[in-house]
Amino acid sequence: MKPRTLELKLTPAQASDPSEVLRVVAKKLKKKGHKLTVVPRRRAVDARRGEPKIVLSVDVWEGPPPPPPPATLEAVPDRLGSSVVVVGAGPAGYFCALELLLQGLKPIVLERGKDTQARRYDLRAITQKNTVHEHSNYCFGEGGAGTYSDGKLYTRSVKRGDIKSVLQLFVEHGATPDILVDSHPHIGSDKLPYIVEGLRRSILELGGEVHFESPVVDFKLKNDKLEGVILANGDEVLGEAVVLATGHSARDIFHLLHRRGIRIENKPFALGLRVEHPQPVVDSIQYRQQPRDENLPAASYRLAKEGVYSFCMCPGGIMVPAATAPGEIVVNGMSPSKRNTRWANSGIVTGVEEEDLAPFAEEFGELRGLAFQQAVEKAAFEASGDDSQMAPCQRLVDFIEDKESSDLPRVSYIPGVFSVKLSTVLPRRIHDQLQIGFRLFGESLDGFLIPDAVVVGVESRTSSPVRIPREDDSLQHPQIEELYPCGEGAGYAGGIVSAAMDGQKVARAIARSLKASEQSPR
Ligand SMILES: Cc1cc2nc3c(=O)[nH]c(=O)nc-3n(C[C@H](O)[C@H](O)[C@H](O)COP(=O)(O)OP(=O)(O)OC[C@H]3O[C@@H](n4cnc5c(N)ncnc54)[C@H](O)[C@@H]3O)c2cc1C
Repeated sequence: MKPRTLELKLTPAQASDPSEVLRVVAKKLKKKGHKLTVVPRRRAVDARRGEPKIVLSVDVWEGPPPPPPPATLEAVPDRLGSSVVVVGAGPAGYFCALELLLQGLKPIVLERGKDTQARRYDLRAITQKNTVHEHSNYCFGEGGAGTYSDGKLYTRSVKRGDIKSVLQLFVEHGATPDILVDSHPHIGSDKLPYIVEGLRRSILELGGEVHFESPVVDFKLKNDKLEGVILANGDEVLGEAVVLATGHSARDIFHLLHRRGIRIENKPFALGLRVEHPQPVVDSIQYRQQPRDENLPAASYRLAKEGVYSFCMCPGGIMVPAATAPGEIVVNGMSPSKRNTRWANSGIVTGVEEEDLAPFAEEFGELRGLAFQQAVEKAAFEASGDDSQMAPCQRLVDFIEDKESSDLPRVSYIPGVFSVKLSTVLPRRIHDQLQIGFRLFGESLDGFLIPDAVVVGVESRTSSPVRIPREDDSLQHPQIEELYPCGEGAGYAGGIVSAAMDGQKVARAIARSLKASEQSPR
């Protein structure tokens, strides 16, 4: 039997009460409530006009719905075939490993950082003691850059893969089923580590391997065929294929590829600042309510003007130090599952152009974007004049006027901020473009340009400044056999879900290739 799908427009209080949703549905269908089962399909906030409403799409079954399908990983075969080396335990690496298992192959995951629990100590060291651990930080370690992130799970790259299967796997490992229906699903930095641990447990229980504190430092190449990788301790790890899912911050891997003459390409990316407002300000701009209805999520915004756009907004979140080496400042954002801090922050960035990279082109070639990114991060570090993770900051209204702020409001960034004209930190063209963007945002969002809003630098790790090329069909590197570039670092994803989908896609390509070579006559 098929369900009937209804679209309801409800108050936030109604939408958060299942018995009320059932009552509305029963009334609409003129049926008795106890004979119906209502299953949410899609949920979104509509705050365009008047009081914000929840648009809830539901499937209504007369009687109980059919039982859910079996858990995804029940389909993993008992006996596994060839081993595949997966470098990086981020979303791309872990979802690649899970898909390899589903394809009957054995993943060996190598991760430079530590497991989620051990990693916490190193995050504390960055935020509280200004010590950046080069293998364990907000970008490196189990779960990759995604673990202590906001955990927003939406992606624009719907065509790249099966979003539902990624979200389903998250749910099967402890995420709330709400992520399957919310238009902007979100897990939160307090829950993600446990879910990531669950993913690892599944990989291990089903026959895969996961090795922490195992940085890959070289490739084992034979006649342009990759046979495996070499770890920092000298160990070799061999496999039928190697997936390189090392993320956009693995600069040593980009340098290694370059050094070994393996083709990489400069890739466009964006750079800018993080802007932070008090959350009630954003709520009142978006919902026209103060305080906001307790059943509404912390409000967010999405802005784009003149090539300047908001990126990775974290309502109810905090800004975090996301540097991966001493001597650089990088800011990013995260939020807990309840999104209940007093702040809202978002990256505001603009595209880096060839003219920005020109000073680096001759010396760094295809790594010019990376060199540029590093130079900006270093300038942000040097601006403080000390050895800390304090970040350069300006009141937004002063940034617009290019005026140093005489004082700063309290901000969420735990290492602290110092007042400086950000025009002394950012490349001039990027600074000026951001100024234009912020002015226009102020014109379109009444209340955005307020003295309590600050901009903090630098938001420089938006995506990879390098692409590792791969062939469209085989997904192998065009020059090196059995090398599979994967995820955000290789330039094929931009976020948790798209990285996870890319991991799955690469695993399927490897399975296809191995099957084809088994069947081809020798
Ligand atoms: C603070 C923060 C908040 C974010 N918030 C969100 C969000 O809310 N939503 C969203 O979609 N995205 C968010 N992102 C971005 C998201 O985390 C990334 O897009 C995603 O994690 C990319 O996945 P990946 O697997 O390709 O790479 P990564 O997650 O970067 O994983 C790469 C892994 O490879 C490991 N590695 C690197 N080099 C080596 C080596 N030589 N040897 C062995 N291992 C190596 C790294 O330690 C890392 O664990 C956020 C990022 C940060 C830093």
